[in-house]
Amino acid sequence: MTEPTLIEEVPSRAMVIIPHPDDGEISCGGTVARWAQAGCEVVFVLCTNGDKGTNDELTTSAQLIPVREEEQRNAAKVLGVKEVVFLGHADGELEDDRQFRGELVSEIRRHTPDVVFCFDPYRRNHAHRDHRISGQAALDAIFPYARDRLHFPEILLELGLEPHKVLTIYLWGADEPDSYVDITGHLDAKVKSLEAHVSQVGHRDVGEFIEARAKTVGEAVNVSYAEAFRRITMRG
Ligand SMILES: [Zn+2]
Repeated sequence: MTEPTLIEEVPSRAMVIIPHPDDGEISCGGTVARWAQAGCEVVFVLCTNGDKGTNDELTTSAQLIPVREEEQRNAAKVLGVKEVVFLGHADGELEDDRQFRGELVSEIRRHTPDVVFCFDPYRRNHAHRDHRISGQAALDAIFPYARDRLHFPEILLELGLEPHKVLTIYLWGADEPDSYVDITGHLDAKVKSLEAHVSQVGHRDVGEFIEARAKTVGEAVNVSYAEAFRRITMRG
């Protein structure tokens, strides 16, 4: 196994490709808060609208969509995210098809991130289908589709979006993370951003859980609190 690395670089632009509202905050909220404060422009791309995220018998999917969108905007504001893009797919119904890949290619070419965060689709244990598919489609969208001129020609010809090369990918949920971000000093923002998802956290005290997790992760690199990723460096 490779030595764990503490990531010190702060890119100019980063994108987080997120299956459901609140996954971004849980996986990399501390990193986003730290980078945004340091001047990085961060864009959230929400793949689904989270419309299955309740067990309340009186709440319908149609009622849930605007609630979760508002919560996601509030959470992003706490973290200093520049823009939130809602692709609006139904929760649980992401498909790894040309349309979805094309939507991700458009966002990557439009926002030109140096770094992209997404779910690790190669982990061994079963993961939520939307997580797996969003991760797989994100990786494919980054390479080769967003990078190569002749893929998705309509995105260049009709939208005028030039090919873009992402330099680094950080996967969350990885079995063997190798890259860590010290989020000491940004734990509060991470907790507050998660608390903004009121329909999901309710009155539960998420702070304790988030702190315990970040502390355990931080032990690998001798910092108080951290988030962990698997890094993919794209070749020239
Ligand atoms: Zn999720």
